[in-house]
Amino acid sequence: MKRQKSFINDQPTLYLVATPIGNLEDMTFRAVKILGEVDHIYCEDTRVSGKLISHFNIEHGSLRNYHDHNKEMKSKEILELLRANKNIALISDAGYPLISDPGYYLIREVIKEGYNVVSIPGASALLNALVVSGITPHPFLFYGFLDQKETKREKELASFKDYKETLIFYESPHRINKTMNSILKVMGERKVVIARELTKKFEEILRGTTSSMQDITDIKGEMVIILEGNNDVYTPTMSIEDELTLLISEGLTSKEAIKKVAKLRNLPKNDVYQTYHQNKEKE
Ligand code: SAM
Repeated sequence: MKRQKSFINDQPTLYLVATPIGNLEDMTFRAVKILGEVDHIYCEDTRVSGKLISHFNIEHGSLRNYHDHNKEMKSKEILELLRANKNIALISDAGYPLISDPGYYLIREVIKEGYNVVSIPGASALLNALVVSGITPHPFLFYGFLDQKETKREKELASFKDYKETLIFYESPHRINKTMNSILKVMGERKVVIARELTKKFEEILRGTTSSMQDITDIKGEMVIILEGNNDVYTPTMSIEDELTLLISEGLTSKEAIKKVAKLRNLPKNDVYQTYHQNKEKE
């Protein structure tokens, strides 16, 4: 076990700084302060982050890029800087670095070498969408982007068809209708919310069901999909033996009870049959 006491050691730090997801007023005082203090800022796109930095008149060290295609080379460079006692900030184009954005490779390497990794909180598209959705906020499962290919996307969706958790996806405007078609096809009728252009002038929250959200026209901008979990999933509240006894006491034959329990619990009938007979022998 390793313990990082973030603010009471003299190790250099990699700061993960969240930036606004559209509304610049969501930049925090602390984010501005840290970006002004670090020796180097790494970002996805120097043009995008350059604008943010000049908007807040942040006097900063160098602004360098870090993205998925140069992550190995840049991680080595960043580790060299940390070894030289420099503090670094990582930002993405919007929201949190690492969340459907680059950075995970880097922080694993930095943690391995024992330097501090500190998060500076701020705007998050997934949390903003979740709290306004009106769908149970937790437990939730954040998935990020589904695959662009229909078969792969539907396979991904099928893998959490039975999850009770609220599901969160990121999506782009030109794929939203295809994704909503796949969601209806695989997940069936459920509550769903599309939250688009969050924090911006044209913010819009579309609340409905999977069937009512098909082939929507005029839907532009960045968006998050919040999908209700599967409420029909059966959760056993007693042992198989007790459930069989209960069903039989309610009038089912042993054969019917075995068939029902196997179906409810998604078990082979033979397994339930064996449990039934083992229990009978004990009696
Ligand atoms: N790192 C970001 C975060 O913490 O939310 C996410 C970056 S990811 C590359 C971009 C996706 O995030 C968009 O396609 C969209 O799904 C979502 N997103 C970002 N900003 C948004 C906004 N203002 N409104 C709705 N969704 C947004």
